[in-house]
Amino acid sequence: MHILVVTQDFPPDVGGTQTYAAEMARGLARRGHRVSVVCPDRPGVRALDDEFAAAGVRTERVASTQDAFPIKAVPAVRRLLTRHNVDVAFAIAWPSALALLSAGVRRRNIPLALAAHGRELLLEPVGVPGGQAVYDAVRRRVIRRADLLLPVSRYTASLLVPFGVPATRIQIVNNGTDPDVFFPVDAAQCAALRARLGVPGPMLLTVSRLVGRKGVNTVLEALPDVLRAHPGASYVVAGDGPDRDALVALASQLGLAEHVHFLGRIPYAELRTLYAAADVFVLPARESRPDVEGFGIVFLEAGACSTPVIGADTGGIPDAIEHGRTGLLVPPDDPAALAQALGELLGSPDSAAAMGAAGRKRVEETFNWQRAADHVEARLTGL
Ligand code: GDP
Repeated sequence: MHILVVTQDFPPDVGGTQTYAAEMARGLARRGHRVSVVCPDRPGVRALDDEFAAAGVRTERVASTQDAFPIKAVPAVRRLLTRHNVDVAFAIAWPSALALLSAGVRRRNIPLALAAHGRELLLEPVGVPGGQAVYDAVRRRVIRRADLLLPVSRYTASLLVPFGVPATRIQIVNNGTDPDVFFPVDAAQCAALRARLGVPGPMLLTVSRLVGRKGVNTVLEALPDVLRAHPGASYVVAGDGPDRDALVALASQLGLAEHVHFLGRIPYAELRTLYAAADVFVLPARESRPDVEGFGIVFLEAGACSTPVIGADTGGIPDAIEHGRTGLLVPPDDPAALAQALGELLGSPDSAAAMGAAGRKRVEETFNWQRAADHVEARLTGL
């Protein structure tokens, strides 16, 4: 098949949807399909696009911001539809399906598949009177016109219900990760990293874009309690974003500066050792609609490195964490409950290690991109 992927979220931008888009494109190409991706242009993407090309993925970059992409991408999508025999169109989120519909995918009788992540189904971005109603109507129309909807979690599937999509068109395909990229690292390497970071005792880790909903503030608020039982503990935060300054300020306000390390955005290749070096991965994301955690790929990445995880019981996180087996779910915005869960894992290394091992096994067996791409391929072929 020639599969045309259209996505406003794609590397080098960082995030769960970007990871999903790249993994699906590579996974479908690996299965022998011809894959073209229309995505936003970014400075310095040449080397990255060469890597995609080597993996059989042809990228067509469109000069555009993320928001303007569904409009700016239309000519490129139309050109591709005209010049090539595209068999299936795959939009990674509904705004990109708008580009496909505007470019005439329907007129050409090309089936349209649409992935759904969470937040984009709830967004209310239009501040002008009446504008939101128009936006909602467009979103509804686009979603209802898709032949196949691929939500990444049970939660995201539930968000599709109000759009009136028949259940037969909805297929949950959970996110995954790559167990050959994320795997346990030997103790010496972990110790070297901890020494470099200045982490002498137990290490808590968050990897996240620093946006409000991720709940890094809740971890900071829980930390004084954790430190009472584990005075040598440190909290390492990898990732960057608009909330960074406020979080750094909160850490020093709480008198935690020497226990908290903000690393900023770190290269993908270094993530594995970071996950593996941590005693617990923690991300108590809150649900402040429209901002929700549609799944939380980072829980799988940490699990794949055999690290136990703690997340909040919100959005799609209960699909990413098997409570009591790969990690713990706690109520959101509840520093006391979080401190208790952290204490539980730090206080019982054997059960923490068992949870880490179960997290690794779960990724190897089920929650990996191979399986996700198998499922998506099977559904695309059936369209
Ligand atoms: P979402 O971005 O809100 O959808 O959250 P997810 O947890 O689903 O996905 C986040 C993705 O971005 C994961 O694959 C992370 O590894 C990645 N990510 C977040 N922060 C960083 C960072 O600092 N460096 C790198 N290389 N990746 C990051």
